[in-house]
Amino acid sequence: MFKKILIANRGEIACRVIKTARRMGIVIVAVYSDADRDALHVEMADEAVNIGPAAASESYLVAEKIIAACKATGAEAVHPGYGFLSERAAFCAELEKQGIVFIGPKPKAIMAMGDKIESKKFANAAGVSTVPGHLGVIEDAAHAEVISGGIGYPVMIKASAGGGGKGMRIAWNEAEVRDGFERARSEAKSSFGDDRVFIEKFIVEPRHIEIQVLADAHGNVVYLGERECSIQRRNQKVAEEAPSPFLDEKTRKAMGEQSVALAKAVDYQSAGTVEFIVDRDRNFYFLEMNTRLQVEHPVTELVTGIDLVEQMIRVAAGEPLPLAQEDIRLDGWAIESRLYAEDPYRNFLPSIGRLTRYRPPAEGRTGNVVVRNDTGVFEGAEISMYYDPMIAKLCTWAPTRSEAIEAMGRALDGFVVDGIEHNVPFLAALMKHPRWREGRLSTGFIAEEYPNGFAPMKPDRTEEAVLAAIALSASLIEANRRERFADRLHAASGALREHWVVKTGDNHVAVRLLDGLVTIPFDMEMAIEGKNMSVVTDWRPGDPVWNGKVGGRDITAQIRPVLNGMRIDWQGLSVTAKVFSPRHAELDRLMPVKLPPDTSKLLLCPMPGLVVAIAVAEGQEVKAGETLAIVEAMKMENVLRADRDLVVSKINAAAGESLAVDAVIMEFA
Ligand code: ADP
Ligand code: ADP
Ligand code: MG
Repeated sequence: MFKKILIANRGEIACRVIKTARRMGIVIVAVYSDADRDALHVEMADEAVNIGPAAASESYLVAEKIIAACKATGAEAVHPGYGFLSERAAFCAELEKQGIVFIGPKPKAIMAMGDKIESKKFANAAGVSTVPGHLGVIEDAAHAEVISGGIGYPVMIKASAGGGGKGMRIAWNEAEVRDGFERARSEAKSSFGDDRVFIEKFIVEPRHIEIQVLADAHGNVVYLGERECSIQRRNQKVAEEAPSPFLDEKTRKAMGEQSVALAKAVDYQSAGTVEFIVDRDRNFYFLEMNTRLQVEHPVTELVTGIDLVEQMIRVAAGEPLPLAQEDIRLDGWAIESRLYAEDPYRNFLPSIGRLTRYRPPAEGRTGNVVVRNDTGVFEGAEISMYYDPMIAKLCTWAPTRSEAIEAMGRALDGFVVDGIEHNVPFLAALMKHPRWREGRLSTGFIAEEYPNGFAPMKPDRTEEAVLAAIALSASLIEANRRERFADRLHAASGALREHWVVKTGDNHVAVRLLDGLVTIPFDMEMAIEGKNMSVVTDWRPGDPVWNGKVGGRDITAQIRPVLNGMRIDWQGLSVTAKVFSPRHAELDRLMPVKLPPDTSKLLLCPMPGLVVAIAVAEGQEVKAGETLAIVEAMKMENVLRADRDLVVSKINAAAGESLAVDAVIMEFA
């Protein structure tokens, strides 16, 4: 076994690999860029080497710097994590030449699977079912039209070198093929430095289901079941689970066996993932093979009990797999939620900055539930513009899918993140979405269920009652503390008011207290809109997390003070609550409501970015759906289209200009 290994990555995945290597008694070397001096992975490692400036292209992506760091520290092997150098065959070959072990597959396998066109040809030859399409490079828009006509619409235009959901377009007709081809090509060029694109059939109502394989250097290959990753936004995974609620034993076996055949055909070793798209009739088609550890690997670890990183390290050290196919059992259900620093209410725009508060829920087993949180951040850390805006990967395991979902809902409710915007409200809303709960998934789920983006949700009557109970209990606990500070004990200060009104969002909820005394810990009977409920909590003033029971139901919510009230976040709801006496509530109803400004006649820049093109002129009439402007941000071109028929009255920005979020790009008559 290796004595010392280097981890050529950062963030949560570097931390995750360190944990296993440490348990195996291996000395760990971290590498870090200037932006990551204080990063968690650096602190966790035994030794750390600076590899240059913040930009990944000048640090984490520079093979020579990684190799030099190995030499300087005497590291015998390199774990690449995912992204960065994990799928660069040339990097592995160079390591091999220098006598350093790459903890991953051999360069030949990476090369064979690294390119989507080449890997499809390979899979075809190995008897793996592939998406119908054209197995070659598309020359130009005219060629794209001919090929698409032959395949039949809809089609998908993809970058051969693509990854991370980039450089991909669906086209439903010839016009979209022409437009999509050019855009896919330009995105492929700017993201991957390789403008080859190809076209395949777009599978309608597709589900993304992938098989985890594990292979050693002695010809043994096993599959560790599947993960379903159909919850995606713009072809990027958001939540994953293992097993898939859609697969039967027969399909699982067929997919597993084809994946093993493909792995054998490329002499695969180490952990790898074979991705499939599955249609509504459970036909499955090979998409690509990821020759690395996958972001969502923890759900597989939770249902199989196998540490994939440990197996990768052992395989790289030449050990045979300790398991045969019949030893592999899938037990229970695991779900992963990817927490991103992005604003779900503003079309998921990245949100960078300092984590002024970061308190994940407690990890480990409680009763029938396991919580696992893979992260690379800590309170006070910075989410920078240089890397993936991932905050954490929160996983829950339970014996059944519905229990695992329930556990995820609770874990998200207790996950405190302040200082930046994040997608917890969206993930929490997903967990209670009926269609997700039923497991009726497709990769179009988010686009179909949230066609106009994710808007703040409104509580229903039951939820309003819970919010009112939380708000009133917190107010009473705070008042109780203030009184004690003032040395006016409860009994001396007179009777507790019986009737209250809690304003949750726009609605008033009437609450009558049935006990005349506030006790700590809080335990009180309340009649909320006439319905009796006991409210129990050990919440203390200043604590962002409210834990307790309302009407017997376990509740975890978050409370933050705001002007004259508090904001409560619970199950994807984010509501401002104010506690009034009935008289004050009457007066509050008379307060004029401030309306948000009308922006319907403006095209606002949805994110900080660079104007690539202004597609219209002043005075021009534009039809709904036509392009108004293109803005580039985070290396993605965002096409801003007219949402209705319009006349452009004024243009305020030009190509090449950098704009702030909400800058007015143009005005309409
Ligand atoms: P997974 O399938 O494990 O979820 P993704 O496809 O989302 O993985 O990619 C994982 C990481 O690797 C992301 O940070 C993504 O941006 C990066 N990545 C994947 N493929 C490439 C590639 N060809 N070039 C550069 N980065 C890539
Ligand atoms: P990446 O390398 O970016 O991960 P993939 O080829 O794995 O690219 O595709 C990413 C996602 O795009 C898939 O999970 C799926 O949602 C969607 N997708 C890809 N190809 C197709 C297709 N032919 N039909 C329908 N959806 C597809
Ligand atoms: Mg993929």
